[in-house]
Amino acid sequence: MRVRFAPSPTGRLHVGNARTALFNWLLARGQGGTFLLRIEDTDAERSTAQSEQSILEDLRWLGLLWDEGPDVGGACGPYRQSERAAIYAAHAARLVAQGDAYYCFCSRETLDAMRAHGLESGAHAGYAGTCRQLAPEDAARRRAAGEPAALRFRVPSQREIVCVDAVRGEVRFHTDVIGDPVIVRADGTPAYNFAVVVDDALMGITHVIRGEDHLSNTPRQVLLYEALGYTAPAFAHLSLVMGPDHTPLSKRHGATSVGEFRAAGILPDALVNYLALIGWSPGDGDELLPIGELARRFALDGVGLRAGVFDPEKLAWVNRHYMKTADPGRLIDAVVPFFAQAGVPMALSDEGRAFLRDVLPIATAAVDRLDQVPGRLSSLFQWPGGQALDEPAIAAELETDAAQAVVAALAQRLAEVPRLDRDAFRAVMQHLKERTGQKGKALFHPVRVALTGQIDGPELDLLVPAIDRGAALSAASGLPVIAGCRERAAQFVLAVAARGL
Ligand code: GLU
Repeated sequence: MRVRFAPSPTGRLHVGNARTALFNWLLARGQGGTFLLRIEDTDAERSTAQSEQSILEDLRWLGLLWDEGPDVGGACGPYRQSERAAIYAAHAARLVAQGDAYYCFCSRETLDAMRAHGLESGAHAGYAGTCRQLAPEDAARRRAAGEPAALRFRVPSQREIVCVDAVRGEVRFHTDVIGDPVIVRADGTPAYNFAVVVDDALMGITHVIRGEDHLSNTPRQVLLYEALGYTAPAFAHLSLVMGPDHTPLSKRHGATSVGEFRAAGILPDALVNYLALIGWSPGDGDELLPIGELARRFALDGVGLRAGVFDPEKLAWVNRHYMKTADPGRLIDAVVPFFAQAGVPMALSDEGRAFLRDVLPIATAAVDRLDQVPGRLSSLFQWPGGQALDEPAIAAELETDAAQAVVAALAQRLAEVPRLDRDAFRAVMQHLKERTGQKGKALFHPVRVALTGQIDGPELDLLVPAIDRGAALSAASGLPVIAGCRERAAQFVLAVAARGL
């Protein structure tokens, strides 16, 4: 089995295309096959090297590595269509010599007018066949005189093409509604339908798995295989990934590219696992499975016909699972850039890594994505000091004498005891309760506000020991300086007094 992913490098990798790549990859890995990457860059105006780079990078990030491709090479290269001109030219010459292709001199204006007329009269919009009957000598003369000409494939008339699709079953097309497609443009570049057939044939592709938007191209491609004397591969056309309104997922629906999900802090394992669930089910009611297990279970006949709707809530659920179960070292590497973006740069030593490893679960248990982690831990790394009182809601918490008594007692107590672990913190709270007579919210709210400068956030039971452990870190930890609870409470009480609340 040999399968391929064949992106056109005209933008970022769309999650729908990433799912196509994934299904190819799962099939190859599950069946001991080969997965190829081919870059379809014959549209020189829209293709960019930058887009190619970003697609390769996104695929690597997802863990969908290829066995043959433009960077790693392979026996069937080159793997970039722009480098295969001679191969296409030889195949085009063969079709011309066989009488299966002919030169077409119709100008763009003529074609546009024909198309408009065809649409108005209700006929199909394919090429009307004006140049089909030109004598080869006439065509040769006009070309020699410098007249631009495209090359068209002569679609046989009165034929029914039956494509057996692994997802859709038998799909029938009648050749009478297929206009002769251009196979080589007037500028000499090969058209998609032609290049894809030549490449899939020469690269020994056994299964073509791609988006349903290419289903209507398939009969043309089947005819080209036939004309070139190649065996057509098996086809599987995947239903497109839809937005909640059941139109193809696009910018209107929000994030669509792998890069955007990556930037939003979705883990690659989560995106892979979630994409696999769109239109396919691993069975046994299982949903959360590592990529290797997905590959083991994947089969084309289990892929559904119904379009899959992209569900951001479900992706968030899958991502939460992977954040909780990720290898701590990997999670740290993935989250550090998000801290940097949030204004908390880190250059972690082993000590810093050990600390972050232990405190990350405080955040990952409560957020959907990695980009939300720094916010969830902001009270640990970004203590605002007395400035917290600039916030009216915070100042309001300290308006009562009872609340002020709690923070005063807190500051006093913390000056007397060593840094807090969980048990010590509980003992402090018990002490404050006895000392001030406050309990529940009236006790915990002022303490939270004094120690974090925030109204809500992670459980104090977890956060307070993290703050004090952070305060004891050495400067070599590579973490920003973390103010300890004792210092925070003292500073806060002074600020409250200074404001005369
Ligand atoms: N370059 C085509 C695309 O990106 C590939 C289609 C195919 O897989 O045949 O849509």
